[in-house]
Amino acid sequence: MNEMSENKQKIAIYPGSFDPITWGHIDIIKRASLLFDHVIVAIANNMNKQPLFTVDERMEMIRASISGIANISVDSFQGLLVKYARRNNAVAVIRGLRAVSDFEFELQMALVNRKLDEQLITVFLMPHEKYSYLNSSIVRELASLDGNIDCFVPEIVKQKLLIKMRKK
Ligand code: ADP
Repeated sequence: MNEMSENKQKIAIYPGSFDPITWGHIDIIKRASLLFDHVIVAIANNMNKQPLFTVDERMEMIRASISGIANISVDSFQGLLVKYARRNNAVAVIRGLRAVSDFEFELQMALVNRKLDEQLITVFLMPHEKYSYLNSSIVRELASLDGNIDCFVPEIVKQKLLIKMRKK
């Protein structure tokens, strides 16, 4: 690394499906915002997945949920994460580690990404333990069964889920 790159703003990408964003994601975003100059929360627009929410709906929910944090922006991308990271001059990729069960897959991803781009560093952050069992699919399932999701997602996300479930 040369002197120029060391003086540059440290940008990190936090990629994911965010279908929808939960308090677990928000916990990770807040931690990342303390470590980096700028964090881009980037929705991976993955053709193989059948998301509940459109990319625009997910972006809107993320924006509403993190409106108090200055150094965050929200975006979406298609294709390889390493290429997207390079286009955005990112030095790091953030991923959340909840439990040992996340580790194997995340390690594989991190090592593949390192193979593709050695400069890009994957940083794992752990959420507060109260979010360690939480993921978006549990939230979707609870919402579809009319379960209480108050402590899992911000109010705006809860409202969007209720509307979505009524339409289904
Ligand atoms: P992906 O399809 O990429 O796994 P997700 O939206 O499920 O997308 O997750 C994005 C990232 O956020 C992943 O690194 C995941 O481990 C992390 N994450 C998801 N839920 C939580 C949570 N409750 N606490 C901490 N990290 C989480």
